[in-house]
Amino acid sequence: MNIYQHKIEPTLVSVDPGALARLMGLDPTDIPEPYSGLISKEIELIRSYENLQGGYRIYDKLRFDTEKNTIILDDVTFHVGKQVMQNLRYSEMLAFFACTAGAEITDRSKKYMGAGDYLEGYVADLTGSLLVEAAMDLLHQILSEEMKQKGLKVTNRYSPGYCHWNVDEQHLLFSLLPENFCGITLSESALMHPIKSVTGVIGIGRNVRFINYVCSACSDINCIYRNSGETSNNL
Ligand code: SF4
Repeated sequence: MNIYQHKIEPTLVSVDPGALARLMGLDPTDIPEPYSGLISKEIELIRSYENLQGGYRIYDKLRFDTEKNTIILDDVTFHVGKQVMQNLRYSEMLAFFACTAGAEITDRSKKYMGAGDYLEGYVADLTGSLLVEAAMDLLHQILSEEMKQKGLKVTNRYSPGYCHWNVDEQHLLFSLLPENFCGITLSESALMHPIKSVTGVIGIGRNVRFINYVCSACSDINCIYRNSGETSNNL
């Protein structure tokens, strides 16, 4: 089985204060207090989180049905939709991934909320969302480097619940990974624990490519991942 797991050193990931400010509806070039102080504090605390980890399982027996926009593995069929299919269809392999920031940051957020510090809890929660994406950027980069050694390229990454891929297929995706992979579990209602976790798929092959500005044609203006891949053009 082609399964890889990586512990992610928190000093290797960073969260941009400007990106956090933007998510809060603030001007990233002039973040007022108390937001600025709270953002700095949460970003500083990232170094103390010890449970950042991620991994992937690589499949090479694939069939793409571009009429139905489905990807068929041995006994699992994903209905990924047109947008995801367009970028994955030339893949020779697929890496199904999972990555987590761990439970600590959500526990902190809940603790703040419980004490009535709603703003601090909110900042911690948003930091966790960007932290897991930063960890996943690193994992994406690791996969890209590994594949480059073999003369292969990687695509953008896609997750159930985004880019018109139904979130219910999260269960199918988990069925491909070992139980409790990277310490992540899935509830009946497709909620992951730890909450700040992501799963999805990345295409691999000689004729695939990473597409910049993939979000510019999308109408989902509230998507937290909007434009997040546009800085990853070194993939
Ligand atoms: S904004 Fe980007 S990441 Fe979000 S659903 Fe649209 S294309 Fe996908």
